[in-house]
Amino acid sequence: MKRSSLIKPVLGGVYPMISHGKGIFLYDQTGKDYLDASSGAVTANIGHGVQKINEAMLKQASEVSYVYRSQFTSEAAEQLADKIASLTKGDLQYSFFVNSGSEATETALKIAIQYWQEQNKPQKQKIISRWMSYHGITLGALSMSGHPIRRERFSTLLESYPTISPPYYYRCPYNVDDYTYGQMCANELETAIRRIGADQIAAFIAEPIIGAAGAAIVPPDGYWERLKQICVEHDILFIADEVMTGFGRTGKILASKHWGVEPDIVTFGKGMSGGYTPIAATVMTDKVMEPIMKGSKLIIGGHTLSANPLSCAVSLAVLNYIEKHNLADRAAETGAYLIKQLQARQERFSFIGDVRGKGLLIGIEFVQNQQTKEPLPKRIDATNEIIKLGMQHGIIVYPAAAGLDGVTGAAIIIAPPLTISLGECDELLSRLDQVFYAFRAKLA
Ligand code: PLP
Repeated sequence: MKRSSLIKPVLGGVYPMISHGKGIFLYDQTGKDYLDASSGAVTANIGHGVQKINEAMLKQASEVSYVYRSQFTSEAAEQLADKIASLTKGDLQYSFFVNSGSEATETALKIAIQYWQEQNKPQKQKIISRWMSYHGITLGALSMSGHPIRRERFSTLLESYPTISPPYYYRCPYNVDDYTYGQMCANELETAIRRIGADQIAAFIAEPIIGAAGAAIVPPDGYWERLKQICVEHDILFIADEVMTGFGRTGKILASKHWGVEPDIVTFGKGMSGGYTPIAATVMTDKVMEPIMKGSKLIIGGHTLSANPLSCAVSLAVLNYIEKHNLADRAAETGAYLIKQLQARQERFSFIGDVRGKGLLIGIEFVQNQQTKEPLPKRIDATNEIIKLGMQHGIIVYPAAAGLDGVTGAAIIIAPPLTISLGECDELLSRLDQVFYAFRAKLA
């Protein structure tokens, strides 16, 4: 085989050569089709090969693709910021554009610290997060992330930010109902603030629904609201990382809206451009921007390609598409159908421990025993085995960490494009069944 100069995720791994994509399907160069049940990395939210997006891309490219944001603004960037402000419907009015989710959360961290500096509180620097979380791969973002495997190698370089428990009710160690457990987990934030001192803390960051670090852990009602309340009471900023959940994925434009909460800062990425181009955003409320506007008027955090017109035009076309086709509502409907069908499979497949999620962000956690919730033995490497079987059977699923330590559990995320029809959901389920039968045969 010809040597490849391209570094792949697993060195020496074999990856199909992509040919093209259409709707929820991807095709490799041998002609094999794959149902994209994960939207890539939970990103291709409007599906593949949408002509309207290609047209917007071509139009912008034929005018101008790149200008430096310190030298020019553009219609595309202005309109995209306005579109985000109108879609999020509230005080989240100011967008700062970057190129990846990691940059968006790292920018949020820096803006939170700056917000306090502008008010003569420079000692407010710490960020509290949860020990099951993923906010990105760059050092600042990773410092806030509770993802043991991704942190391990760089632990000495990371800030030792404080963490609190995730609302992982499936593995709740106490005999309490979900609401009570949610409150207990949220109240850990207050305990941490009292222990460290609010005068040292800039912000709390969390994903409304935990993605890669927990396979779609949806918090109990009351939890997200309580976190916001604690942040307000103790005067620290509340950052919602909606890189995975944003723009319709969970059945609402913002997942935070499921609980009527407006964060001070929100980060977007992934579905913001549906994967058609790299772009992400850190979005702030008036409250956050006011001291900065009155103070230094400057956010030090841009990148060379921040707010480039090409990416902004593409993202704008994607957000218009999501709005026009009501994809958030559609995701709520198809997601509820898929979750119900997947839960029904727990009877057939004893290794399905839990099916959870909201909208089209769905997690499946695998276990050895449904009653005791004992994880499958590590040697089975269930997550990777199921992904591999998925590739063989023409269905793409996404890995997620699970288990109380984020390592011993096995889980996948099912997150097809929000455009998926009910008929295509049945096709997804039928391919997944083939994978599960093959996995069961391996376990036997
Ligand atoms: N935040 C969340 C919630 C994510 O799920 C991810 C990526 O999976 C990131 C941040 C980092 O985004 P990126 O991979 O675009 O840097």
